Amino acid sequence: MTATYDADLQLFINGAWRSGEGREARPVYNPATAGAIAELPVATAADLDEALAAAARGWPAWRAKTPDERAALMRKAAGLIRERADLIATLLTLEQGKPIAESRGEVLSASSLLEYFAEEGKRVEGRIAPRPAGQRAMVLRQPVGPVAAFSPWNFPVNLMVKKIAPALAAGCVVIAKAPEETPGCTSAIMRCLADAGIPGDVVQLVYGNPDMISRHLLGSEVIRKVSFTGSTAVGKHLMKLAADRVQRITMELGGHAPVLIFDDCDLESTLDRVVMQKFRNAGQVCVSPTRFYVQEGIYDAFVAGFAERTKKVKIGSGFDADTQMGPLANARRAPALEAMIADATAKGARVIAGGAATGDGYFFQPTALADVPLDADAMNNEPFGPMALIRPFGTEDEALAQANRLPYGLAAFAFTENGRRINRIADGIESGMVGINSFVISANDMPFGGIKESGFGSESGPEGLDGYLVTKAVHIY
Ligand code: NAD
Repeated sequence: MTATYDADLQLFINGAWRSGEGREARPVYNPATAGAIAELPVATAADLDEALAAAARGWPAWRAKTPDERAALMRKAAGLIRERADLIATLLTLEQGKPIAESRGEVLSASSLLEYFAEEGKRVEGRIAPRPAGQRAMVLRQPVGPVAAFSPWNFPVNLMVKKIAPALAAGCVVIAKAPEETPGCTSAIMRCLADAGIPGDVVQLVYGNPDMISRHLLGSEVIRKVSFTGSTAVGKHLMKLAADRVQRITMELGGHAPVLIFDDCDLESTLDRVVMQKFRNAGQVCVSPTRFYVQEGIYDAFVAGFAERTKKVKIGSGFDADTQMGPLANARRAPALEAMIADATAKGARVIAGGAATGDGYFFQPTALADVPLDADAMNNEPFGPMALIRPFGTEDEALAQANRLPYGLAAFAFTENGRRINRIADGIESGMVGINSFVISANDMPFGGIKESGFGSESGPEGLDGYLVTKAVHIY
């Protein structure tokens, strides 16, 4: 199937779409071919100043709207996203590479996130504390203020809306810096928000030099809150910038998810699920299962079953109906993955499937390594690609210690039929999210986020809305 890149790449500032006018432009690539498909205008300092001034002007009117008024506009935007889902999904697959069915699912999930937060915004409630002589003390929860939201290229539509939806519901205004790699799909989402009638000083969209944009926005007294999804290294840098103005933060950072496979699991069905999940979105997922710790009695069978299934994963264009894994999203990951594989094999790991870049574009073979030593770079730093690392373990305590050994703490998984063990793992594992006999750990009404160096705060659920609210105590005498 051929698909047309029907995108209009512009910045959206103070209600106007902008491009040209002397701005620099940067190319956008199709990762399936490595060919340039469009040019993206880069925001200037003057653009950012205008966006900041508009956000400062737009906030009072947006926060003064009732939750019902905000919800009506958000629901309308959600409807437009659903109506335009085929177009937006096509742009997403052309820019990011993932199979078109997954792109469509991502676009629909963004629509449902807007609907969820439209309703959740109606439930921002405080409390009243009685005082002895009839006075009252009140706790109010109010919008934190203008937000700078930075979202990445792996789930560009979903992760941008995951920040915009709770911010709007809480009564905040947003300047979004969406990823430069995938601007067509995020611009199409922004058009839905604007066409629904959300004012142009309430949601704005910029692209450009990420470092310049984050320094400029976080350096402004207008911005009260920073939300970032991306690598731990960049997250730490933004936390330092945010400290200068004590801006509130939500940080959804890197992970290195352990998967504990116990010998009492249903091996064949577990293998089917872990392999499918590992290669979803070419492993470019912050909660991707990566470190597979397998109990000794089933280790050899697991390794053989994993290799066999991995070799059958069908890679190709996201528009081919039988494609299970598309290309990597950009040219940066393949050399990083190849260096990790060379390092691991030099230290004794065995490549049991894949192991190299392949074909035109940014394709990489679905890859699995067994007997990976703990000092291999890949066992300590996030591969963020289609690479599984497998090691044996003996006891449950040893498995838990291995799972908790890294500074990351985003997602962790375990496969076992032992109920008491399930409780011990749920209690003992150091991560923000735990999946037991399942990889389904993301839902609109559940918090999504990490602990340790994987992040700060949650997205989604009532906890996600909390990130866009501040607390005020009022004492009335
Ligand atoms: P990167 O660290 O250069 O960038 C990661 C993200 O941060 C990108 O979206 C980028 O635009 C943004 N960014 C970079 N510098 C920034 C700055 N100074 N201010 C604001 N935003 C900035 O790495 P990359 O090559 O784009 O991605 C690979 C790494 O990023 C992976 O190893 C992974 O850890 C991480 N990542 C994580 C997620 C996630 O969902 N948590 C998503 C994408 C990337």
